[in-house]
Amino acid sequence: MENARASDFAEELALLRTELTRKDEEISRLKTLISSKLGEPVSDISEVLLDQAGGDFVGSVVHYVLNNEDIGRYSRQLILPEIGVRGQLKLKSSSVLIVGAGGLGCPAAIYLTAAGIGKLGLVDFDEVEINNLHRQVLHTEDRLGVSKVISAAQSCKRLNSSVVFVPYRLQLNSQNALQIIKHYDVVLDATDNVATRYLLNDACVLTKKPLVSGSALRFEGQLTVYNYQGGPCYRCLYPKPPPPETVTNCSDGGVLGVVPGIIGCLEALEAIKIVANIGTTYFQRLLLFDALDLSFRTIKLRPHQPTCLVCGDKPTITELIDYEQFCGARATDKDRSKNILTSDERISVKRYKEMLERNIPHLLIDVRTPVEMEICQLPHTAINIPMDSVGKEESVNRIKEEIKSQMTEDSLPVILVCRRGNDSQTAVRTLQEKLKDSNITVKDIQGGLTAWAKQVDNNFPVY
Ligand SMILES: [Zn+2]
Repeated sequence: MENARASDFAEELALLRTELTRKDEEISRLKTLISSKLGEPVSDISEVLLDQAGGDFVGSVVHYVLNNEDIGRYSRQLILPEIGVRGQLKLKSSSVLIVGAGGLGCPAAIYLTAAGIGKLGLVDFDEVEINNLHRQVLHTEDRLGVSKVISAAQSCKRLNSSVVFVPYRLQLNSQNALQIIKHYDVVLDATDNVATRYLLNDACVLTKKPLVSGSALRFEGQLTVYNYQGGPCYRCLYPKPPPPETVTNCSDGGVLGVVPGIIGCLEALEAIKIVANIGTTYFQRLLLFDALDLSFRTIKLRPHQPTCLVCGDKPTITELIDYEQFCGARATDKDRSKNILTSDERISVKRYKEMLERNIPHLLIDVRTPVEMEICQLPHTAINIPMDSVGKEESVNRIKEEIKSQMTEDSLPVILVCRRGNDSQTAVRTLQEKLKDSNITVKDIQGGLTAWAKQVDNNFPVY
C-alpha cells in the first residue's frame, strides 16, 4: 500500500517536473517575445507579467513583483500609505520622457530614477559644456563634449541600475515627436524655448499624455501640468506665441543653478504623483517660485478652452506643424545669432584688432550690463552704455560729447560691442536713427566678445 502510494507520488512528481520544464520553456519563449516587442533586454523584464487584475495601471505592462532588493531599496517610501506596494509597482511599471537634459532635466531625472520609475527616456541634442555644470548637476568635468543624454543616463544608472534608460540624442521635431512620446506615460518639458513648448504640447494632446511643464530664469521658476484631468493645454492659455524678441533664455538672462534644481525636482514630484495616482497635481494652476524672497505662490489658470485649436471641440491642428515657423524662433536652447545689419555695417574681430594695432581713432561703446563689464572687457577703453539706455537722449548726448572731446571734427567712428554680436546690431540701428543728422558712422563688432576670444585672444574669458 505504502509502496503503491510512493510510486504514485513519484509518478506525479515526474509529471509535475515535466510540466514545470515545459512552463519554463514557455516563459522563456514569452520573455524573448515580450523583449523583442518592447525593445528591452530580457533581464529588465524578467518580472514582467501582463496586468491581469485590469487595474488602473498607467502602463500597459506591469512589473508585478517587488523583489527583496526593491523592498529594501524603496522601504522608506513603501511604508507611506499613499505609495505602498501598489504605488511602487505603478512606478516600476511606468515610463517618463524628459525632454531636455539640462538644468531642469537633470534633477528631474535623478529623482525619478531614485524613486524607481520603470523606464526613463531622455531627449537632448547638445553636448556637455563647462557653462552647464553650475546647474546641470548630472554632468561632470570629465564629460565635457559628451552627449548630455549619455552623460545623464550614466549618472542615473550609477544610482539605480534597475531603471531602463533610453537616451535619444536628437532634437525633438514634428517628424519624430509623436513616434517617441507614444511610448511613454508622462512627458516632462525641461526645455528652454517656446517652439519646443508648443511642439510638446500638441504632441501630448494628440497622444493623450499629461505634460508636466517647468521653467526657470534668473531667480524665478514656474511649474504646471497641462493636458491632464480635463485641464487646459498650453495652447488653451497661450493661443499665440509671444514675439520672439520678448523671450529671454538662461543664456541671455542668466539663472541661479539651484532655481531650475528646485523646479526640476517639482516636475519629478508631479510625474510621480500622476503615475502613482496620488494627491492632486498642478493642473489648471500655476506655481510661481521666487528664489529671492523664497516664496511659492499659486495662481489659478484659465480652464480648458472649447475653442482651443488642438484640444478644443473642433480642433484644426490634428497633426504636428512647423513650430519654428509658427513661433518665428528656433527650437533650440542654444545661443541664437541675429542678422540685422549688412556686412558693411559690421567689422570682424580681426579687422578690429588691426585698428587697435594701428591706433586708428574710434569710440568704443560696450552695450552690455555693468555686471557683465566687470567680468571682462576689450583692451581698448570703452564707454559703457547698456542696451536699455542706448536710445535715450542722455546717452546720445554723451556719445556726441565724447566724440567732441576726442576729436575736433565729429567724424570719429563709433564701434559697438556686446557679448555675442546680437545686441550690438540692434543698438547700431537705434543709434543710426538717433544720429542720422550727424556724419557719425556706427558699426558693430561681428560676433562680439565671444568671437574675440575664439579668433583673436584665446586667453579672453567666455561666459
Ligand atoms: Zn488646449
